[in-house]
Amino acid sequence: MRVFKGKRVVVYQLDSGKFALDGGAMFGVVPKVLWSRLIKPDGKNRIPMATHPLLVKTERGWVLIESGLGQGWDDKFREMFDVVEEDPFEDAPIGREEVSLIVQTHLHFDHAGELSTADGRFRYNAPVVVQAMEWADALYPHERSRASYVRGRLLPLNDHLRLVSGSAEVWPGIYVHRTGGHTRGHQIVVIRDEERLFVFTGDLLPTRHHSPLPYVMGYDLYPEEMLFARKYWYEFFMRERAVLFTPHDREAFAGEMYLDERGKHRLREVSPDGG
Ligand SMILES: [Zn+2]
Repeated sequence: MRVFKGKRVVVYQLDSGKFALDGGAMFGVVPKVLWSRLIKPDGKNRIPMATHPLLVKTERGWVLIESGLGQGWDDKFREMFDVVEEDPFEDAPIGREEVSLIVQTHLHFDHAGELSTADGRFRYNAPVVVQAMEWADALYPHERSRASYVRGRLLPLNDHLRLVSGSAEVWPGIYVHRTGGHTRGHQIVVIRDEERLFVFTGDLLPTRHHSPLPYVMGYDLYPEEMLFARKYWYEFFMRERAVLFTPHDREAFAGEMYLDERGKHRLREVSPDGG
């Protein structure tokens, strides 16, 4: 766990499981000779990843931004994705029962799997904020999106949802904005503090290595929409000097965006204030 301090909020970056996905699918049209210099694939062409949700302490209570991969996956699933299970609350400052609100960028298993148990029990006492469009698409996936939604883990959310559309302030100082691109209902989460602006990027920026504009994933259902969303939000990230939290780096990462001398978007690491 790593800690980032604002003036009125404290952000805890948690560890909620390691896994691996096909490197080609993770880097879309980027040739392997380029991406394999950034992250080394294993014998099955998979690259090491992880899930790092945020737990945010605010003046009015605790907000969980995503829950991550979670636990209780079966042998076949663990083998396929090289899963190492972790409990994000193992060293967290509070327990699950003290979380007041959960905000999900989208509902793919590597972002939302932890919300429920393998036998279909919702693990929290808090509502889950997600775009209405994302919930609809998760319930009725198509042939290309089906493998990313695990129905048995999603149905328990049904009685705990707070559906939003577009942009919304979901908690004092915490905003969601629909980006589309990865899924139609994908959203990012912006945490405004007096001194700092924190952003959980979701799959708009899955790892520190995905910052160049064309580095969008093969997994993105709407890659062109993702490119346009990035052009818009990258401007915002740089103008506001936002601290960006990426969800999937194997080693937890936070960084500020800048343009290098060749006009490429890069991330400069921001160190935590504690751990
Ligand atoms: Zn996803």
